[in-house]
Amino acid sequence: MSTFQSLPKAVAVIGAGTMGNGIAQTFATCGVDTFMVDVKQEFLDRGVAAVHKSLAKFAEKGVLTADQADGARKRLVATSDMGCLAKVDLCIEAVTESLDVKTKVFQAADAAMPSHAILASNTSSISITVLGAKTKRADRVVGMHFMNPVPLMKLVEVINGNDTSAATTEAVLAWSKGLGKIPVSANDYPGFVANRILMPMINEAAFALMEGVATREAIDEIMKLGMNHPMGPLTLADFIGLDVCVSILDVLKEGLGDDKYRACPLLRRLVHAGHLGRKTGKGFYDYKQGK
Ligand code: NAD
Repeated sequence: MSTFQSLPKAVAVIGAGTMGNGIAQTFATCGVDTFMVDVKQEFLDRGVAAVHKSLAKFAEKGVLTADQADGARKRLVATSDMGCLAKVDLCIEAVTESLDVKTKVFQAADAAMPSHAILASNTSSISITVLGAKTKRADRVVGMHFMNPVPLMKLVEVINGNDTSAATTEAVLAWSKGLGKIPVSANDYPGFVANRILMPMINEAAFALMEGVATREAIDEIMKLGMNHPMGPLTLADFIGLDVCVSILDVLKEGLGDDKYRACPLLRRLVHAGHLGRKTGKGFYDYKQGK
């Protein structure tokens, strides 16, 4: 593998959820042989269905030709067998935002991947240095933080862990550009840049709702119109996943040692109730009966 190629030949994405299937779709659309790995067939089926639906929309809108969409479908292989990692130049982990879960996945991926390959995490907040130290390839471990929805959003926040080599960073910067994305580098501190700034805003919106400062609709409308944001913070939290938001806030609080990052009790209560946002049909808003 040359680190100067604009795209890897083959990639594996571990996790077929919201982010994993979007990342897999993006690579497959750009002509890369792509494996999407998850623990259960039903999660794989759901991930593949989401990719097919999105590709059909792109083809319908004329963003992709029918042939391009078809090529992407064919290049995407869904499997629960980590053995496919032996064939890749790049593996991107996009599993649940939990250090325990990610540690297990990182160790299994490290053992299965060829020595030259780069192991990236799409984590929103967990330390790349900590994840790298769980492997025997800390110099080839890096953060590739894609934004949701991946096929549409341009940014990739590229996170350098303590021991990430310059060659690794250079490769993922080039590959991100090869995907048509705009990579921006950041260093490894809790929440990096995007979530260190975004999550306190979402959390404050949840506190404002809990304290009755305004209705959910009013909070969202004020932030949309007043700050020129494309969507309000509560709608955005539902889109990201309330469980993901709480996990990130926990990492910020622990990693930065500051109580100002404590997750709002209302946010945590919704997570305990299983109302995780769009992905479960209910969060701050109810998506089953329309908003
Ligand atoms: P998700 O819950 O939608 O999907 C996670 C997937 O990982 C599930 O399909 C689950 O079955 C799978 N998984 C869990 N353990 C696994 C294992 N051991 N092996 C293989 N698959 C496993 O979560 P998501 O929203 O896609 O988030 C994934 C990662 O991306 C998290 O680290 C999150 O912080 C990050 N992220 C999320 C967003 C967002 O907007 N949701 C944005 C940027 C980054």
